[in-house]
Amino acid sequence: LAAFLAETVVLLGIHRLLGGSIAIARPSTWLIMLIGIAAADLTGFVIVFAVVRWHGAPIAFRSILSIGMLTVPVNTSFALVIGILLTSQPWATVLLAGVGAFLVLAYRSYASLRQRFDSLSLLYEFTRLVSGAQRPDAILEAMLTQAKNLLRAERAELWLHDDNDTLWRVRVSDDGHSGGLLSAGDSLLIRPWFESNPEACAIDTASATGLAAQMLAVLESGNCIVAPITESGAVVGLVAVLDRLGDQGSFGESERTMFATLAHHASVALENGRLIDRLHQAASEREHEATHDSLTGLPNRVLFAQRLRSALVTTPDQPVYAAVGLMDLDGFKEINDTLGHQVGDVVLAEVGRRLRLVVDADVHVARLGGDEFSLLFVGARDRATVEASGRRIREEVARPMAIDGMRINITASLGFALAPDDATDGPTLLQRADIAMYRAKAGLGNGVAFYESTSDENTPRRLQLVSGLRNAIAEGQLSLLYQPKADLTTGDVQGFEALVRWRHPELGLLMPDEFIPLAERAGSITELTQFVLKTAFAQAGVWRAAGRRWSVAVNISTRNLLDDDFVESVTDLLIATSCDPRLVTFEITETSVMTDTKRTIDVMEGLADIGIRLSVDDFGTGYSSLMYLQQLPVEEVKIDKLFVTQMEADPNAEAIVRSVIDLARNLGLRVVGEGIEDRYLWDRLGQLGCDIGQGYFLARPMPVSDIVPWVQVWESRHAIHDLGLVTAHVGTMATN
Ligand code: C2E
Ligand code: MG
Ligand code: MG
Repeated sequence: LAAFLAETVVLLGIHRLLGGSIAIARPSTWLIMLIGIAAADLTGFVIVFAVVRWHGAPIAFRSILSIGMLTVPVNTSFALVIGILLTSQPWATVLLAGVGAFLVLAYRSYASLRQRFDSLSLLYEFTRLVSGAQRPDAILEAMLTQAKNLLRAERAELWLHDDNDTLWRVRVSDDGHSGGLLSAGDSLLIRPWFESNPEACAIDTASATGLAAQMLAVLESGNCIVAPITESGAVVGLVAVLDRLGDQGSFGESERTMFATLAHHASVALENGRLIDRLHQAASEREHEATHDSLTGLPNRVLFAQRLRSALVTTPDQPVYAAVGLMDLDGFKEINDTLGHQVGDVVLAEVGRRLRLVVDADVHVARLGGDEFSLLFVGARDRATVEASGRRIREEVARPMAIDGMRINITASLGFALAPDDATDGPTLLQRADIAMYRAKAGLGNGVAFYESTSDENTPRRLQLVSGLRNAIAEGQLSLLYQPKADLTTGDVQGFEALVRWRHPELGLLMPDEFIPLAERAGSITELTQFVLKTAFAQAGVWRAAGRRWSVAVNISTRNLLDDDFVESVTDLLIATSCDPRLVTFEITETSVMTDTKRTIDVMEGLADIGIRLSVDDFGTGYSSLMYLQQLPVEEVKIDKLFVTQMEADPNAEAIVRSVIDLARNLGLRVVGEGIEDRYLWDRLGQLGCDIGQGYFLARPMPVSDIVPWVQVWESRHAIHDLGLVTAHVGTMATN
């Protein structure tokens, strides 16, 4: 009012000052009017501007002023035309009213079109934001801000259940964000509300009763639109825009539908966001599983190799210093065998825990498998510090452990290799730490030993073997020999054990005891086993075609049992060679049955399921584990040849063999005695109740071509019980 009054005063003042008359048709009056109106407008602007600034609010003075000044001549001309018309022709009022009404209508429809366009572009902007955001909190923030702007509301609010079922409240207004927990009483409103209003719904104080009035009270609002947020069809919260801004009154139908669309978009985006969160979580769990050992929680071989590799990345001007350690527990196998693998597992977990506690935080510790642990000291330069850590670890491991009421003492041997002195790459460092560890085991360095190049005499030969292994398979340097097994009571040939040999082009005939461990370490055991299986399966097929149902036994390495694809690849090979699985026996050494039990048991069960007979090779160190074997899908036990060959001389050996046979038979297992070197052992094992015999007394391992002639001699001689003669004959033709 003050501004209007001031404007009028200014206009009249100027009119008077410039000597203006009321003769409106005169052009000089028009000029005076123009100046007067411009001055009056300017006054009004200055006043409004001053008040706004005084309140500290920003205002774009220049642009408002320039638009205002532009309208001055237009407004003045309109006023003058109307004035002139009215003074000369009063009836023109009616016509003017018509034109005026039209102008008002045109402006209104323009304004509503304009508003729709604005809303649409805001809605578009919202969808873009929401679909781009992946994290739920970003989606929510975008949604609330956009909803508030889009619907010209004072505030927007969201209630949302989290995974623990607490209800959170987030509020966005021009003053910023606020959030908190919703009281239990208030949160009870949600369910009954959406049961009766499943869609977006506009409420205002004037018409609200009952539940709607309560809702408004909790939301502290006069008018609002409320819509549900759903996840997988269930209501998990609500979203609301509250209190329309300015003089537009409460929310109408078009706002309600727009808000419903918006809330729906937000629900979908929120659900996607949570899904992505869950996927991320699952992926990181899976990654942890793949890089950590489940028993001790320590990093596994894979992760250790990765860390080793990145620690050894060299810079051109400086060598990288590091120490790699390997630790092996002394006598762990005995603990496993005599006290059972559960106790063994507890010991390993405890050793892992102590290791982690005793080393500094920057030392990487891992479990490589079995009772083998590894350490990486990045930046370690001097031997004395590394050795001191090694001793500390050794002492810590040696502290007695109380497990199941027993006191267990275990010691460890540690070997270290240093970079860059001993090697500069991970695999060689590990290999040399391994050699150092064997020195420690051999009693050098009081349990903690370092690599010394002189202790590694075998390296050139070993390296030659490791590098030649893969070629050996491809170039046919590997072959199989077969050693017979026969029924100890009837003498019938029951089957053959396949034993691998390597004819090395330079080193001559190599025995499996030398190259199998290398193949296991170098990772070529998978190919080697594939070769042996394929050859042996095919051979079983040849015998069957010739009318002989001889079984074939193959030795399986621990590593094969840790391979998830092993069962599948065996199945494929059986099919490819059309071999009857019932004719196949897999010999698994007692120690590998005991390592990493969960996985090996799975693989063993898979093998038994496809009909393969499982046999425990080299059995004879612990009786307790025989009870454990009962839980496995094992059908046969092979007594270690060491016990058998010593039976004649050592009554203890015979006692052991006798108990193993008794116990195994009581458990329903078939017993095989290997290492039968003479007639006495053949007879004695038969008397003790052993089922099958194998050994030089029957035959040494032989090439396929010798089998048929040998069997003919064996069967005919056996029929006339002239076994001594057979032995003499077979002995001359056997090859190894
Ligand atoms: P094993 O499975 O216990 O095989 C029996 C070993 O005892 C064979 O040695 C065999 O020649 C020898 N032997 C047989 N009868 C007598 C006897 O009366 N007296 C004595 N003193 N020894 C006898 P070989 O062929 O040198 O194999 C040694 C080990 O190498 C095998 O022990 C087996 O564990 C492993 N092996 C052999 N072939 C393979 C293979 O294809 N894959 C895997 N993973 N390991 C294999
Ligand atoms: Mg064997
Ligand atoms: Mg054996």
